[in-house]
Amino acid sequence: MQVAKTIAEIRAWVRRTRAAGKTVGFVPTMGALHVGHVSLVQAAAAQCDCVVVSIFVNPTQFGPGEDFEKYPRPLEKDLALCEQNGVDAVFAPSSSEMYPRENLTWVTVQKVSEPLCGRFRPGHFRGVATVCAKLFNIVGADRAFFGQKDAQQVAVIQRMVADLNMPLEIVVCPTVREPDGLAVSSRNQYLSPQERREATVICRSLQRSAELIRTGEKDAARITDQMREVLGQVSAFQVEYVSIVDAASLEDLPRVQGRVLIAVAGRLGSTRLIDNIVVDAATK
Ligand code: AMP
Repeated sequence: MQVAKTIAEIRAWVRRTRAAGKTVGFVPTMGALHVGHVSLVQAAAAQCDCVVVSIFVNPTQFGPGEDFEKYPRPLEKDLALCEQNGVDAVFAPSSSEMYPRENLTWVTVQKVSEPLCGRFRPGHFRGVATVCAKLFNIVGADRAFFGQKDAQQVAVIQRMVADLNMPLEIVVCPTVREPDGLAVSSRNQYLSPQERREATVICRSLQRSAELIRTGEKDAARITDQMREVLGQVSAFQVEYVSIVDAASLEDLPRVQGRVLIAVAGRLGSTRLIDNIVVDAATK
């Protein structure tokens, strides 16, 4: 497995790979790799000849007071996990390699970046879109693999790639969950044992929404009220939002129809957690 720390090294590796006629799948990550990331690697390996993983804790997507400094960075463990899972190359640049000078060029995906997490993390999606645009330009992959877990990130990146005619395909992979339903996340390790138990309330609220839709409920407010009731069972969980939106545009939907994203975010203690499901509801 090739480990590239510089842009020149990863570009040279990809150039050689493509010259040999191989397709390249790309999995961008911030490291602290877990089974969710591994599922993206497996999807990339199934669809492409070679897999490149990037490991970069991107400073421009963290706001002031967020967890940029404390974000886990177990690089040696991450490299071993990549190796075990058949990754062909890892791109693990430093901040100064990615941002060698004051960054004056930003990618802003209007509208799609604004609701949901955008309201609580100003600037976050500008940082995400900008770093993904840079990584796509650096790696030059055929396909990039993202998790449904970060639904708004997916919507932002898909819109950026479409609007800017970026020459790669975005592949979205299902959310990997713990046996009790909690979405796997690098941030789950911040939770105390009690918070870890309580965190399942998020997926229980999503399950409630799915049940209601299955039994014919179409009114978004009634569904979100029921979800808030479930979330209220854990008094320590501070809800940021419970939203039902169109899965592509992320616009609010008063009634459930078409491809609908049901998304929850909130805090348990100092840990911010998000989760979502996508439901295909009959259009009536
Ligand atoms: P991160 O390292 O948190 O930036 O995540 C890197 C990629 O892994 C993103 O595309 C995430 O959506 C994806 N990812 C994170 N957690 C999961 C999960 N539980 N299931 C599937 N994909 C995930």
